[in-house]
This record gives sequence, structure tokens and C-alpha cells, in this order.
Amino acid sequence: MQLCSRCGGDRVVYHRVYSNERLCRACFIETFERRVVRTIGRYNMLRRDDRIAVAVSGGKDSLALLHVLWKIEKRFPEARLFAVTVDEGIEDYREEAVRYAVEYANKLGVDVYVVSFRQLYGFDLQEVMETSEYRGLGLQACSVCGVLRRKAINYAAKQLGATVIATAHTLDDIVQTYFMNILRGDLKRVEIGLRREEDGAIPRVTPFRLTPEREVVFYAYLMKIPFQASVCPNASQAMRDPIRKFLMEYDEKYPGSLYAALKSFEKILPAQDKEFTQRRCRVCGEPSSKEICRGCELLTFIQRGAVCGGMS
Ligand code: SF4
Repeated sequence: MQLCSRCGGDRVVYHRVYSNERLCRACFIETFERRVVRTIGRYNMLRRDDRIAVAVSGGKDSLALLHVLWKIEKRFPEARLFAVTVDEGIEDYREEAVRYAVEYANKLGVDVYVVSFRQLYGFDLQEVMETSEYRGLGLQACSVCGVLRRKAINYAAKQLGATVIATAHTLDDIVQTYFMNILRGDLKRVEIGLRREEDGAIPRVTPFRLTPEREVVFYAYLMKIPFQASVCPNASQAMRDPIRKFLMEYDEKYPGSLYAALKSFEKILPAQDKEFTQRRCRVCGEPSSKEICRGCELLTFIQRGAVCGGMS
């Protein structure tokens, strides 16, 4: 019989392959939550009196993050937690996700702020994509969605007076992004989710930076968190999809590879980040590697009527 590596109990529910630990339910939950607290401390992600805007999509990762931060926040009465949800307008998908996000935030007693592309930009993602395809403009759904969602979260966080934005990017997501940046030849866009205080920008943090995605899923399952299980209809077009598959297979074959990759990136990247952080977008004032950030560039392109026929 296999016993829990920590408490010796006989109800093992999880095998943590990279550390060869077998864990019972209670020990899995305890080590999972402790690692999030350690990650926050190690990278100075949060302060005792922060107003934290948690980006919640309604999927497993973000709801698990809301749950664990809600538990941690109880120990810090000066801190305040909000959920921020963006409705990009993805047909037959996002409505359901928004419902999960709002219902779970309400259940925890966390104020939730929903903002939509239509309300902010005057168009839905769906509409942009349909018109782009019709006109042969070659816009990728995920590129438009990712960039404009980031802008929308920043907007909502500012409305709430947030001092920090927490996103549910896991160890897997962060390593994938580092690889994608390298493949795009974009080494300047480097440190992801590490708190940086800069004028005009709310810092972003990623408390799941050291947590593999499969453990986040298992935590959500153990905590019985209801989440949207269906996948976005655009997900297969995402540039990160082949990288995600490759890294997942590699890490399965050679457990611990994701941690090793993160460690390597952390050694080589911070020094190269300075130039990027010193620049500001001329339009919105957010940090940008170019004179005008990708978000403002896209918005100008779309709103000028090139895609949506002159929408404001
Ligand atoms: Fe947006 Fe792409 Fe994610 Fe769908 S898969 S929510 S389009 S970034």
C-alpha cells in the first residue's frame, strides 16, 4: 500500500512525479497553498494593504487563484480582493464563463467587476474576426483577444483603485510565453508576472508561477470549484498551442523540465528588461517596447474602420 509521503496516511490521491511525493488530500491542499504563499513572498508579489484585482475568466486556473487568494487574504485584513472579468464577445463560449466567474465570486463574497469589449471598444471579438476574415486582413483571434483583454483588465483595475493585478498564469503558461518570445525574436518582452512599480501602470503578479497547471486543475477539483470546462473555439489557432503540447509532452517524459526552464530564464532575462520598462506608449502611457503599444495600434487599426466599418 502506498502511504502519504508527509503524514503517512493511507489515502494517497496525488503523485507529484518531479519530487516523487505521494500525497493525501489534506497534504496536497496544504502543500499547494503553502507554495502559493511562498511564491508570493519569494518574488515580493503582494503587500499587506494591497487592493488586489484578480483577473477571473471563469476557467479552472483563475477560479482556483481567486479561491486561494481569498483564503490567504483572510489573514490580512488590510488587503482587499476584487474579481475582474472581461467579456470579449466570443459566441457560445464567453457568456457561460462570465456566469461561472460571477457566481463563484459572489459565493466567496468577493466584489466582481465585469467589463466587455463592446462597452470599452465598441465592438466584439467575434465581429472583428468575421470582418477580418471577409476582408482578408489576417488578424489572429488570440492576438487581438490577448492584447485587448490585457488593456481591458488594466482599465477595470484602475476603476477599482487596484494597486496590483493578479493573474492565474501557471508555471506552464509562463515557460510557454518565454519560449514564444524567443521564437518571435522578442527577447525584450521578458519578465512575466513579477511586480514592477512604474508610473501609470498597475503591476501584475502571477502567484501560480511555481505551480504546474495539472496541480491547479487538481486543486480546483478537490475544492469542488465549478468552472467552465469547454475550450474557447479559437484555442486551436493560438500560436502557443504547439509549444504548449511540446512542453507538456517533454515535461511528462522528463519531469521537472518546466522548473529547470524557468530557472534558466530567470538567470538570463532580468538584465535585458531595462530598456523595455523605461519606455511608455505615446497614446495610453502604459509600458511598451515601441512608441505606440500593440493594444493602441490594434485599436486604431480596428476603430479607423479597417475592420469594423467605422465603429467608434
Ligand atoms: Fe481569447 Fe484565444 Fe484565449 Fe479564446 S483562446 S479566450 S480567443 S486568447
